Amino acid sequence: MGLNYTIDCLHCGTHTEFRSSTNRRTMMVDVRHLTDNIDTECAIRCPVCRSRLNTSSDDFLRQVKIEVEA
Ligand SMILES: [Zn+2]
Repeated sequence: MGLNYTIDCLHCGTHTEFRSSTNRRTMMVDVRHLTDNIDTECAIRCPVCRSRLNTSSDDFLRQVKIEVEA
């Protein structure tokens, strides 16, 4: 199962996609149930402005979307 991440940085507005597969049959999943599993200890940063995306799980959910291969 492939996971794709889309980052919309609220700081600089950069839209970045990370694709782990080329399968186009992807579906958006609700990641709110994963909130408890979001690691806020290790910083996830915007690749452009280096603004931290996961200062809190709310910040993470606002800026990062996760797609799971259907
Ligand atoms: Zn940024």
